[in-house]
Amino acid sequence: MGGTFDPVHHGHLVAASEVAARFGLDEVVFVPTGVPSFKQHQDVTPAEHRYLMTVVATASNPRFTVSRVDIDRGGVTFTVDTLRDLKAQRPGAEIFFITGADAIAQILTWKDAQELFSMAQFVAVTRPGHALSVAGLPEDRVHVVEIPALAISSTDVRARARAGQPVWYLVPDGVVQYIAKHQLYRGLS
Ligand code: ATP
Ligand code: MG
Repeated sequence: MGGTFDPVHHGHLVAASEVAARFGLDEVVFVPTGVPSFKQHQDVTPAEHRYLMTVVATASNPRFTVSRVDIDRGGVTFTVDTLRDLKAQRPGAEIFFITGADAIAQILTWKDAQELFSMAQFVAVTRPGHALSVAGLPEDRVHVVEIPALAISSTDVRARARAGQPVWYLVPDGVVQYIAKHQLYRGLS
């Protein structure tokens, strides 16, 4: 599951859990982006903070892991590179790339779009307020999974933290504490 995870929240965790159950996955690898290709002009929290929050959030689930491939590669993250690195580390594994409906709608604009479908199956998770369009995508390689009403977004969590409003229960407890400890999102828009 690729994402900016700025910060990781319960929407991400529910989506990962739901998809893992639906497809019988052995492992869900959370992959925080380096510089997200669609967010190059926004302020994004330094990768080490996003990585550590994701580690904290997933620590209690034996099937959840966090990968540094996109962070350590550096630069702008392209999904084709993410998949190449993950496949190299897990020879023979069948890969499902979990992503949001908002991102899958843009998939045909991604770098090496056609090669992506040969490398992995894609699972598009939908959340309230995000219409899904999979028109033009190969039906046998793209699956749509509806996630029960979880209107949580990192954007909202950042806005709340900045305004001094509570973020308890939107993100795991350890992430609430990590945000406070490192005073994240104080100056971001
Ligand atoms: P931002 O508001 O900063 O864009 P986000 O909440 O969308 O953050 P991302 O890190 O961009 O979080 O999300 C990673 C992936 O998880 C994306 O593909 C996104 O569509 C999906 N996702 C995010 N929030 C939810 C949610 N509440 N339910 C299901 N999927 C989600
Ligand atoms: Mg997003």
